[in-house]
Amino acid sequence: MRLLVAPVSDVYSVFTGDSLLTLIKRNDLISLTYINDSIEVKSIAQTFGKFKSVQIIALEKLATLKIKPADGKTETHLDDDVYVNSGKNSLTIINHVDIDNYVAGVVEAETGYSAPDEYYKIQSIMCRTFAIESEGKHKAEGYDLCDREHCQVFKGRNNRKPEIKLAVAATSGIVLVDSSNKLIFAAYHSNCGGQTDYSENVWKTERHYLKPVIDSFCVSSRNANWEKIISMKDWEKYLVKQTKDYHKPTDSIYCFYQPQRKSDYELFGSKIALTEMRKDFKLSSTFFNIEQNADKIIFSGRGSGHGVGLCQQGAIEMASRGYSYKKILGYYYKGVRLVNYSQLK
Ligand SMILES: [Zn+2]
Ligand SMILES: [Zn+2]
Repeated sequence: MRLLVAPVSDVYSVFTGDSLLTLIKRNDLISLTYINDSIEVKSIAQTFGKFKSVQIIALEKLATLKIKPADGKTETHLDDDVYVNSGKNSLTIINHVDIDNYVAGVVEAETGYSAPDEYYKIQSIMCRTFAIESEGKHKAEGYDLCDREHCQVFKGRNNRKPEIKLAVAATSGIVLVDSSNKLIFAAYHSNCGGQTDYSENVWKTERHYLKPVIDSFCVSSRNANWEKIISMKDWEKYLVKQTKDYHKPTDSIYCFYQPQRKSDYELFGSKIALTEMRKDFKLSSTFFNIEQNADKIIFSGRGSGHGVGLCQQGAIEMASRGYSYKKILGYYYKGVRLVNYSQLK
C-alpha cells in the first residue's frame, strides 16, 4: 500500500518522532509506502528511509492537505495534522484535527448540502456533543474516534458548503447537557415516522431526555413511509426459530398494529423485540404494522432509522418554517440545556 500526500495550502513539516525529515509546501508531494511493518518515506528527489510512524504537522493554522492511495482515485482533504502509523499489513491514518474543523466535516457527511442554515447549527451542536462525549472510544487503537458510522461519519474537511463552517463557528463550543450538567447522548436519526422512541427500546439504557415526542413535521417527507413483503414460508420459519411454542394458527393472528410505538411483537406468549425484527428483515424502522394477505406478510412502516432523539427530517422542516435551533433541540430532547463546553471543565 502506498499513500500520496500533498499540501493544499501552507507548509507542513514531516517528522518521525523527534527528527525532522523535510518540509513540504503546496505542489510538493511525498509518498508513504508500507514495507514490512514500516513506512518508507520518499519525495520526488529523495528517499528518507523507513519508519514505524510519520507525523505531518502544519506550521500554520488553517493548513490543509490532500491524501490518496497511489492506486485509487479518491482524494481526501484534511485540516490540520496527520499521523500515519504502520500496523499489521496496514497503515493507519490519524487526523489530529481542531474540534470545529472535525465537526464541520461530520456535519457535511451526515447532512449533505440542501438543509437550511439554521439546521446546520443543530447538527453542529449534536455532532460536537457526541464527539466530546465519546472521546477515547478507540483509545486502545491509538485514536479517539473512527470515521465510520460506528462513531460519526467523517470524509475529511468540509469543502463544498461554506454555510456549514459558518454554522459551526456560530455555535462554537456549545454542547447539550442534561439536568445534572452531564453531556447528553445526542442520538439522532433520519425520520421518526411521526413519533420518536424511548432510548431503552433501542439500547436498553433509559435516558430521561430521550422520550417519545409526537412529530408532525416529518410525516410528509421522503422516507416517511415504506413497505416490505415477505413470503409466509419465510415468516413461519422465522417464528419457529424465535418463539418457544410455535404452532400453525387457525386465523390471521399474525396481524400487529402500532398506533403508538411498541417495543415487542408478541405471539404465543413469546416476545420478539422490534429492534431484533428490524435487523433480521432489514427493515427501515421498528415503527411498522404487520398484515397478512394470502401467502404473504406485509410490513407497512413509517420512518427511517432507530427513531430515538432528534428526527433530522422533522428538524429540517421546523428550521425551514423559521423555528430557532434552540427551540428545535428543546422539542426533541426533553429537559436539556445548551452550555459552552468550557464552562463544564
Ligand atoms: Zn468508532
Ligand atoms: Zn419525525
